[in-house]
Amino acid sequence: MSEKKSCSEKSGRVVPVIDRNRCEGKADCVRVCPYEVFEIGVISADQRSALSIRGKLKAWGHGGKQAFVVQPNLCHACNLCVEACPENAISLGSVS
Ligand code: SF4
Repeated sequence: MSEKKSCSEKSGRVVPVIDRNRCEGKADCVRVCPYEVFEIGVISADQRSALSIRGKLKAWGHGGKQAFVVQPNLCHACNLCVEACPENAISLGSVS
């Protein structure tokens, strides 16, 4: 595994946002994030029912496994997760 990069940006400016209709829980974000912002888990019944038809098919195909943002306050806006996600499921949103 390659060494994780660090980031000099301050945390708390942005948070990663995961598109539930795209994420397939491949965990590239978990591997590249230097700050352990993500974990892989299984979407809830409510989250599954909110998916599009295509999203439901994808969820069925990977057992509902997806990435979850468990420590949003630690995000340093390095963009590594956005670049690493093979499903283009992650964007960075501003903290409200
Ligand atoms: S941009 Fe992504 S990889 Fe970088 S710190 Fe934030 S969550 Fe982690």
